[in-house]
Amino acid sequence: MFVGHYAVALATRPSARRAPLWVLILAVQWPDLLWPILLLAGVEQVRIDPGNTVVTPLDFVRYPISHSLLLDLVWGALLAAIVHWRYRDPKSSLWVGAAVVSHWVLDWITHRPDLPLWPGGPRVGLGLWGSVSGTLLVELSLLAIGVVLYVRGTRAVDRTGQWAFWSLLALLLAIYVSNLLGPPPPSEAALAWVSLSLWLLLPWAAWIDRHRTPAIPGPA
Ligand SMILES: [Zn+2]
Repeated sequence: MFVGHYAVALATRPSARRAPLWVLILAVQWPDLLWPILLLAGVEQVRIDPGNTVVTPLDFVRYPISHSLLLDLVWGALLAAIVHWRYRDPKSSLWVGAAVVSHWVLDWITHRPDLPLWPGGPRVGLGLWGSVSGTLLVELSLLAIGVVLYVRGTRAVDRTGQWAFWSLLALLLAIYVSNLLGPPPPSEAALAWVSLSLWLLLPWAAWIDRHRTPAIPGPA
């Protein structure tokens, strides 16, 4: 799952009033942002295995810290606590915590049974990645819903607020298509380094947020 995770951040932004878009993207993508760091540190492990599923050439050998349900619940609670400490808004912090856990749930729908419930525990996954059309249908539908909710629930304060958002969306779709159609990564290390570049979307989202506000003004 790729664009589906970002869809959750977009969909929740109008409700999580105090949490900026970059914080929500950090939350929905936290397991995938942590993952390349743990790969490079040798703590987690992936193998390039073309044909592993029709959608991905990756065999997720071991990723208990970034992708077990138990640890994602812990990460969610931790991020929610930090957001509550920073923004003093229980509703926003709940959305952020739920956003972290949503990553595991969406991965559980798409992955083969390779997601551990807890480190060393049983591995689960519904395997939507067995079907390209099914994956596209689910992810693009999620993205469409996310975009509609975000565009309705926020308002661009200037032109930058328009094109900064739409260009991010175009970039996400371009990454998605190139992952689907492109060749498998040349090595596990190259994959980890390319995956690290997703951190760059956080300052981009912060920039969008400075040029868009929630559409309906509410309590500060
Ligand atoms: Zn993931």
